[in-house]
Amino acid sequence: MVKGRQLDSAGLLDSVNQPTCAEALPAEGDPLRSKRSDAAAPARPEVAPPLEMVARVGPSDAAIELAGGTGLRVDARGRWCSLRVKGQLYRRTLDGAVVTYPQPSPHPLEVDDRGACHEQARALAAALHQRLGRADMPLRLCGEQPDRGLLLTLLARAQAWSATDHEQERQRFAATYREPIEILPPDRCMDVVALPATGCPNAACTFCAFYRSRRFRVLSPRDFSAHLEAVRELLGPLLALRSGVFLGSASALSLSQPRLLAVLAACSTELGKPARGVAGFWDPDHAPTRTPDDWQALHAAGLTAVYLGLESGLPSLRAELGKSADLESLLSAVAAQRSAPLRTGVIVLAGAGGAARASAHLEATASAVARMKLGPRDFVFVSPLREALPEGELAQAAQALREAIAARSAARVAPYAMDAFRYYS
Ligand code: SF4
Repeated sequence: MVKGRQLDSAGLLDSVNQPTCAEALPAEGDPLRSKRSDAAAPARPEVAPPLEMVARVGPSDAAIELAGGTGLRVDARGRWCSLRVKGQLYRRTLDGAVVTYPQPSPHPLEVDDRGACHEQARALAAALHQRLGRADMPLRLCGEQPDRGLLLTLLARAQAWSATDHEQERQRFAATYREPIEILPPDRCMDVVALPATGCPNAACTFCAFYRSRRFRVLSPRDFSAHLEAVRELLGPLLALRSGVFLGSASALSLSQPRLLAVLAACSTELGKPARGVAGFWDPDHAPTRTPDDWQALHAAGLTAVYLGLESGLPSLRAELGKSADLESLLSAVAAQRSAPLRTGVIVLAGAGGAARASAHLEATASAVARMKLGPRDFVFVSPLREALPEGELAQAAQALREAIAARSAARVAPYAMDAFRYYS
């Protein structure tokens, strides 16, 4: 699988009251005005810039950008993935939601009337198809398959997707994934997720709302095969845009060694060998003890990275948070894991312990990370523990923790915004 280039990004967005997409298309011959804005538009400059449409077309998807902040990305089946209307970005998630990004927050907000967005995307596809059907309409093409005919085919397919069809996709997602995809590490957010297990073997962390009532359950080999087939079918052409596989849910590494090896083999058969390999969350306190040879075997089978929640280097604080207080056993599990060439991602909590234990938490956490002997391929993610401290103090605590860790570890240190994640199409 090869990660595709995407024109879309969660940019700076504004305006809640959006016109329909068809209205947002600049009127023919007038690149500066939408149909709706004609009345209020400023005086027309003497020489209007040329209407520019740029399209990237590839085997998996196509994206068109127009002057004026209008854009559309559709996949090869015609399902819209992103929609931009006068600079406001909307994205369809694989679980059937539509999100947008209100300023100043970069975090996605779910749109209530997703049906209206589906219809807007359809109307924009129809308008673009009509306009680009004229051979004299200028268009700059790029991408792996810069072919106007292919672009027109995808736009025609997009016109056929009704809001009802998209609702059926939502149900297909629910049948494919037995639980919501709540979170992925930031560097794996474009992975395809496979669920060999659901729930969390711990489910006791006081700060975690995701898995509190979800019992850990491992899928049978037969159910997992059916799941992988359903994932392949659901993503369809979008699968080729994913650079890795992420094994959910809360701790796929809690599977027994033979079961995990079988899962990796099934992923390789059904999903291919992604460039970034297979990764998963690992809770060492609720997982089999693995020797260096065990880790080597997992790596040989395709596992390339594991992500674990240290949360704090203070044993007593870890216990309060719902983790094991036995820090030494966690560190020796990490030492065994690091004997194989797997990347390690470590998550720590900024603000844990409140103001009273701020310096003890910072010192103990930076020290525990230093003892893991992480390298430049590894990550430490600093996640703010909301409500542990007032907003401003929490930001300062996160910054201080990032700096303390960066001073004592070769790993890359980055923020981890839990509420920014969505499983995008
Ligand atoms: S181990 Fe992870 S997923 Fe499970 S409850 Fe704790 S934080 Fe949540």
